[in-house]
Amino acid sequence: MNQPSHKAKIQINKWCIQRDGENCLYCGKPGCKVLDHLNDNRNDNRLENFVRAHYHCNIAKIHNIDYQVMAQDKLRQNEQWPFIPTEDNTSEEASTEIKIAKTNFEIQEQYILEKTLTDGFITWHDALYGATYKCKKLTGYGSVQCTRNNLYTLTSPEAPFMKTKDKNKKPIIVRRNQN
Ligand SMILES: [Zn+2]
Repeated sequence: MNQPSHKAKIQINKWCIQRDGENCLYCGKPGCKVLDHLNDNRNDNRLENFVRAHYHCNIAKIHNIDYQVMAQDKLRQNEQWPFIPTEDNTSEEASTEIKIAKTNFEIQEQYILEKTLTDGFITWHDALYGATYKCKKLTGYGSVQCTRNNLYTLTSPEAPFMKTKDKNKKPIIVRRNQN
């Protein structure tokens, strides 16, 4: 479940065209061929996290602050107004795969939220294995690697949680901006 299958990529590409048009997000020009992960997390395979881009624009983003800001804004926009794909000629298998990636992310976020609301924090270790267990139980899919990458997303500066350490120097997750 970590990398989308070839079939899933073809489907994601079609949906990105339906949502954004054909052109590259970054330079606005046609002829782009790659799918870019907006938050650079290659295991975050939610549809919201993909855009079409040129290979060279995708590489340029590594050092181009404007492109990085465009990516952050686009991801926020996609999350705020989720794209509803038209269901015609959708590969069942590919769309299921993408839905599971999205559902698993939501399960993980909910799990971290519940734990941090109840206990004030959750250890990174418990978050990793607890959330993976929840995903396996609820969707039938879940891998530690995938959860780990989503935990990095959930504790990124834009996200509602942050990674820190307790008094024994163990990594924990707490809610950001808690009073
Ligand atoms: Zn481009």
